Amino acid sequence: MSKVIKINLLLLIVGGIYLIWLKATGMGVPCLFHMLTGLYCPGCGMTHALLAISHFDLIGAFKAHWAFVMCLPFMAYLYIAICWRYGQKEKIIIYSWENKMMILMIVIWVVRAIMLDLWHIG
Ligand SMILES: [Zn+2]
Repeated sequence: MSKVIKINLLLLIVGGIYLIWLKATGMGVPCLFHMLTGLYCPGCGMTHALLAISHFDLIGAFKAHWAFVMCLPFMAYLYIAICWRYGQKEKIIIYSWENKMMILMIVIWVVRAIMLDLWHIG
């Protein structure tokens, strides 16, 4: 079994155990930013969106972090593609168009965060 598959299996197992724990107890890792400021960070929105997706609640996920939900298919593709290429060539290969898409995602996330903080839209 290749190193990439082992690492991904480990992440899947750890993530699955954490999700089961979270659903059973409602106790997750607290967000330090939220604890200190009372504001939600982008990670909070992504976590809420992922939890909603795990309940097959796409509307709830969209409300929690629409930019994350919109970018999720690309992020899944990119993750699988990078793992695949690493497994083939033993190095991380990211194409130019993928870099541009990642920059676009970051810009969308920043604009969303600004809209959310300043005008409570987003
Ligand atoms: Zn947070």
